Amino acid sequence: MKAIRIAIDGPASSGKSTVAKIIAKNLGFTYLDTGAMYRCATYIALTHKFTDKNVDAILNELSKNPISFKKSDDGSQLVFLGDQDVTLAIRQNDVTNNVSWVSAIAEIREELVAQQRRIAQNGAIIMDGRDIGTVVLPDAELKIFLIASVDERAQRRYKENIEKGISSDLETLKEEIAARDFKDSNRKVSPLKAAEDAIIFDTTGIDIPGVVAFIQEKAEKMIDMV
Ligand code: C5P
Repeated sequence: MKAIRIAIDGPASSGKSTVAKIIAKNLGFTYLDTGAMYRCATYIALTHKFTDKNVDAILNELSKNPISFKKSDDGSQLVFLGDQDVTLAIRQNDVTNNVSWVSAIAEIREELVAQQRRIAQNGAIIMDGRDIGTVVLPDAELKIFLIASVDERAQRRYKENIEKGISSDLETLKEEIAARDFKDSNRKVSPLKAAEDAIIFDTTGIDIPGVVAFIQEKAEKMIDMV
């Protein structure tokens, strides 16, 4: 198996993490959920009541309690801050609705991007986020930018929330997704955008196996080529 790097970017709830996890499993690659890392930084900010004036304090907490990923007994990925399991906590609405201001802070991005690059250094990795193809791994062998209508993305997040036991309202979700996309796309540092050499794929109306097949076929071709 050749150690290519796959970057999957796109707006909120465009299906990036769901398909990236499946492809990682199929190819035997490492999967890195970079959104979870920004959510961890946000969780720290909220639990300590830090604001964007306390960047050093957020970074200090991050270095005292490093982010790590572990496998649960059922094979799903768990997210840890130090020895605290924050897998569910970082998906709660307060984190989701605050993550954009934390992820817009240059110093926080610098630290998390350095960690992401270290994790990717041996290749055979599939990473999903907003700036993977543009900033984190600009020389990734395969770059995919997933898009889907706001309506469809809100429906997906709504179903996901029900499965995770998080209460939500569909109309509110639509507004929150559109607001997060706007903030992520318009921030000064590493805004959400497709890399020039990314393949843009609209997943509206396409199910998960369809998106997986599209990306995996391209990945397998790349693996044969390198
Ligand atoms: O992917 P997810 O929805 O979990 O990402 C949460 C947030 O983290 C995004 O809305 C964005 O603000 C931030 N993020 C980022 N860069 C990444 C991944 C996520 O700014 N590479």
